[in-house]
Amino acid sequence: MYNRILIANRGEIALRIVRACKEMGIESVAVYSTADRDSAHVRYADQAYCIGPPKSVDSYLRIEHIIGAAEVSGAEAIHPGYGFLAENAHFNEVVRSSNFDFIGPTPQAMQQLGDKNTARAVAIRAKVPVVPGSDGLLVDEEHAIAAAKEIGYPVLIKATAGGGGKGMRVALNEQSIRTAFQQAQTEAQAAFGNGGVYLEKFVDKPRHVEVQVIADLHGNVCHLYERDCSVQRRHQKLIEESPSPLLSQKTRTAICEAAARLVAEADYQNAGTVEFIVDQQDNFYFIEVNARIQVEHPVTEMVTGIDLIQSQIRVAAGEPLPFKQSDIQLRGAAMECRINAEDPSKNFQPCPGHIQKMFVPGGLGVRFDSHAQAGYTVPPYYDSMIGKLIVYKPTREEAIACMIRGLEELRVEGIATTAAFQIQVLKHPAFIAGTVDTKWVERELLAPS
Ligand code: ADP
Repeated sequence: MYNRILIANRGEIALRIVRACKEMGIESVAVYSTADRDSAHVRYADQAYCIGPPKSVDSYLRIEHIIGAAEVSGAEAIHPGYGFLAENAHFNEVVRSSNFDFIGPTPQAMQQLGDKNTARAVAIRAKVPVVPGSDGLLVDEEHAIAAAKEIGYPVLIKATAGGGGKGMRVALNEQSIRTAFQQAQTEAQAAFGNGGVYLEKFVDKPRHVEVQVIADLHGNVCHLYERDCSVQRRHQKLIEESPSPLLSQKTRTAICEAAARLVAEADYQNAGTVEFIVDQQDNFYFIEVNARIQVEHPVTEMVTGIDLIQSQIRVAAGEPLPFKQSDIQLRGAAMECRINAEDPSKNFQPCPGHIQKMFVPGGLGVRFDSHAQAGYTVPPYYDSMIGKLIVYKPTREEAIACMIRGLEELRVEGIATTAAFQIQVLKHPAFIAGTVDTKWVERELLAPS
């Protein structure tokens, strides 16, 4: 096992990894920008290195600064967290060629699954259902029109390098496909430096269901069941839960086994998430793989009792998974709310600033993963998430009641947060019934009346 790990990240996930290291008797090394000098991940780590000024391009994305800090600190492995360089195959390669272990998949698996079009091909090989779509990337408009004709409208044009919903356009008919194709290509080129786009059938009112997987270096692959992340605003998840409220046992088994097959096909190692959309008839279709730990990993930890960050570290160090698929049980119901420093009354505009007072909820089944506290200033340079409220109860009904209570108890004075909006969602009959789809928030709660 490692003696020392460098964490190439900030905020709550960096602190989460520091905590896992401490419990395993591993020293942790933080890196930070000057804007994060007083942040909790720096304070609780055993060593800390400043890697640059506030802007992430000058600090958290500076590979050579991170490698330099790792060398000076004597770390043996690097954990990338999520965001920043976590899914950058080049960073992954540089880490490994500088003689550090990368706590995540190989660069080859990352590359293959990071590109949606090649990931789709892997899914097809693994006999995992994909959304009916074009055979590979679209060459030009005529190709797009021909493919759409075969599949049937409406269709979705998607960027192969996509992320965060960028480079994605719906086309309702032949007329709109020309514009959609151009727009998606231009947006993808600008955002990812890769204008490759492909086409999928647009699935009406889908739910977002994803499966957590973990694989070791010895060929063992396990899934840790699913998370439902259908409560989204503009493709940004707001509430995640496990188990998914409406999935039949048959579909649950099928979707989880499909995810495990897909990662086995890709020779994937370490933790990852296979994302699907599920239509109104319970058909599921693969959409993408996240080759890293995800923000919402705690809900899976709560229902399975497995520490995912510790598992990632053990697997990277070469240990075999300490469990078999049949040992993993899904028990109870867990839910997470992302607490963002955003103002729902101003179109979710980010509102960084100084937190004057803060009170964090507690009680049975309540977990709060956060680097924020009273006196902390949320910097304007990074994403606006200041913490995650996670609850775990025997039933979904109790989890909802506990989450509402927890959100009501949470006090963050000085900045606006999303908490009150989340209470509104949790109290809504459609959410309670478990029937919300990925556009429900925008359609039912935010559409101008
Ligand atoms: P990104 O990586 O840009 O976030 P994804 O492929 O993960 O893109 O898709 C993001 C979201 O877009 C999904 O959660 C789902 O809500 C919606 N989506 C993706 N593909 C389809 C589709 N074929 N039909 C309908 N909605 C889709």
